[in-house]
Amino acid sequence: MNQQNKPQQQKINVDLSQAESMKCMECDSEQFKMEYLIKKVSALLSPTGDEMVIPMQVFSCSKCGIIPEDFLPSN
Ligand SMILES: [Zn+2]
Repeated sequence: MNQQNKPQQQKINVDLSQAESMKCMECDSEQFKMEYLIKKVSALLSPTGDEMVIPMQVFSCSKCGIIPEDFLPSN
């Protein structure tokens, strides 16, 4: 029953009651949902030399739908 074959998963002890909930800057909602941006990588930029379509996970406010800039991967 004690399966420890996931070396990359470290148990992180965080007291979430001390953690701050992120709020939507538009509507103050604390609820977000996961969505995907789809990035199209041209053949010139792709490591394989072929055009690629890469899904990128982002969070959007479940109330007003905006994607907070904090959640956007910087590039
Ligand atoms: Zn919102």
